[in-house]
Amino acid sequence: MLAEKCKHSALTRFLSLSHLCCPTPAVTEPSAGSDVANLKTTAKKTADGKHYIVNGEKKWITNGVFADFFTTAVRTGEEGMGGVSLLVIERSKGVKTTQMKCSGVWPSGTTYVEFDDVMVPVGNLIGKENQGFKYIMSAAHNTKWAGKGFMLGSSTVRRVFG
Ligand SMILES: Cc1cc2nc3c(=O)[nH]c(=O)nc-3n(C[C@H](O)[C@H](O)[C@H](O)COP(=O)(O)OP(=O)(O)OC[C@H]3O[C@@H](n4cnc5c(N)ncnc54)[C@H](O)[C@@H]3O)c2cc1C
Repeated sequence: MLAEKCKHSALTRFLSLSHLCCPTPAVTEPSAGSDVANLKTTAKKTADGKHYIVNGEKKWITNGVFADFFTTAVRTGEEGMGGVSLLVIERSKGVKTTQMKCSGVWPSGTTYVEFDDVMVPVGNLIGKENQGFKYIMSAAHNTKWAGKGFMLGSSTVRRVFG
């Protein structure tokens, strides 16, 4: 019974690599870029506590137009950093993606994502509720080092090959 339940869970489909997830979390919004603590996308629990209902918009999301899953920063609690959570949202009813016209990065599918009353199972929460800010900052730190490595690698290649 449990195995059957797991077979259909978002996590299993995500891990089976049959579906695509954005490589980076969907954090940035039209009014919240660096200011992650003030993001406005909301995830409110239903009365039975089984789902979150997500409403809001994300901007500049890499690969968003191709993705089946979005690891999304949402507001589940109070204002500020203490009310942010990370939620895996599957492409489903109420999820709309529009590719943005970005010069130079067209293949990476930079996307504007809209969530309109999207029902997300509570099991799709990553880690603990209202602890998402810490997770995002930690991921951003690691990405920063990966980015530096990439830039260092490219500059070495540039020097060698002119
Ligand atoms: C091609 C592309 C792909 C992207 N992919 C993703 C993605 O997959 N997921 C995602 O979530 N976002 C993504 N982004 C968004 C990117 O991470 C944001 O641009 C970034 O978070 C900055 O937000 P902002 O543009 O609103 O700038 P702002 O937050 O408005 O900042 C503007 C400038 O002010 C500086 N600044 C802001 N606050 C401070 C401060 N307190 N002290 C000093 N300086 C400050 C910033 O460093 C910046 O230089 C992508 C962007 C691009 C261009």
